[in-house]
Amino acid sequence: MNKIQYDLVIVGSGPAGSTVARFAAKANLKVLLIDKRQELGAPIQCSGAVSRHALEEVGIVPNDEFIQEPIYGFGIYNQLGDCTAIDYRSLKGDEYGPGPGKKPLGYVVDRRRFDRYLMTQAERAGAEVWLKTEGLGYQTTENGNCEIRMRRFNEELTITTKVVVGADGLQSQVGKWAGLRTHIKITELASCLQYVVDQVETKGLLEIITGHEWAPGGYAWVFPKGHGYAEIGLGVIPTMTDQNAQWYVKKFMEQSFFKDRFKDARILEIQGGGVPLAAPLRTQFADNLILVGDAARHVNPITGGGIHTALSGGRIAADFLIQFLQEDRLASAENLKGYQDQWLEELGNKMWKLYDIKTDIFHNQNIEERDEQLYATMSSYFSPDSEYKKI
Ligand SMILES: Cc1cc2nc3c(=O)[nH]c(=O)nc-3n(C[C@H](O)[C@H](O)[C@H](O)COP(=O)(O)OP(=O)(O)OC[C@H]3O[C@@H](n4cnc5c(N)ncnc54)[C@H](O)[C@@H]3O)c2cc1C
Repeated sequence: MNKIQYDLVIVGSGPAGSTVARFAAKANLKVLLIDKRQELGAPIQCSGAVSRHALEEVGIVPNDEFIQEPIYGFGIYNQLGDCTAIDYRSLKGDEYGPGPGKKPLGYVVDRRRFDRYLMTQAERAGAEVWLKTEGLGYQTTENGNCEIRMRRFNEELTITTKVVVGADGLQSQVGKWAGLRTHIKITELASCLQYVVDQVETKGLLEIITGHEWAPGGYAWVFPKGHGYAEIGLGVIPTMTDQNAQWYVKKFMEQSFFKDRFKDARILEIQGGGVPLAAPLRTQFADNLILVGDAARHVNPITGGGIHTALSGGRIAADFLIQFLQEDRLASAENLKGYQDQWLEELGNKMWKLYDIKTDIFHNQNIEERDEQLYATMSSYFSPDSEYKKI
């Protein structure tokens, strides 16, 4: 069996894992980043909406390689089609727009290219990257390190490291290896489906459609995808309906106030996946191990967005680990708790607040009131003076 020593082995090269890897490698830590996929980001299970601020905060310069379309604001709809328009081109026209000296509010990115770009930046910073390598388990050792078992192509090997970072997404196994409570309640797991379509006009806005009629427990969306394409999708909470997401997408396309707009839509791709509209994990650390990104439920429980929180969480994890490993402390659960404390202070406490707001809305048994609350919350969430708009 091979035995190699790394400071960090990061399992999962999505936005969270590659961000930890990039920052840690830049600080001269010896980093191994592994991903079980042979092509990162594929198959796509994401709409790719991310704010410009989220990229800038972690030093990612917007690049044509992964940007599909710039975004200038939002259109938030209630069930009947009334719209709160939050278009920064008119709200703050001096700053936001397509012209010279102006900037977009955010982007729709191609997750295949985005994930590959982030991984490449980590590699250029000095991280070693192994694709088609699946983490299988870990075990702490008597000298304070741990061994992680993995399968690289068809070969099984064991690697010694000080800390394992579980950035392995929604269906994370890494947390389970350490016995952490990673279970998601079915009442908090949105089932999402989206079509990439041709012949649906968009106007540089992320359109979000609320209402139990269209997406019980979640919302529907229409996002621009670049090259004249659009994404039409939605997420539903399966315990709130007898129908599945596919049924709701069909209904939304054929019966909603957008039905005329969608009448010529041609479906080019079908993408789906789960989104946890859940609280962050209460414990995101164990002996020689921490979790980040979807694996730690670092997902905005109101919007379901997880790219920004994966990038920020990745940066916070790296900041903590760089300092921690410099101090050469024992990587016990007790000592790694500092990571979660730092994350809570910088980001997590706000996410817990959002979770409480979301829970209040969906505990309301009066569906009409609930719909109004969700519409109002979404409208204020994305408004220019929202205290949360940077999550
Ligand atoms: C339909 C849909 C639409 C979405 N739209 C948006 C959106 O518009 N904006 C937004 O912000 N968020 C969106 N999200 C959420 C977003 O995709 C996730 O929150 C984000 O990808 C989380 O990043 P991550 O790095 O934590 O995990 P992931 O991106 O899931 O990456 C995890 C990586 O770990 C790898 N992996 C897993 N297990 C192992 C293992 N044992 N060994 C090695 N590698 C492993 C996987 O191959 C994967 O590459 C959407 C999600 C869905 C399902």
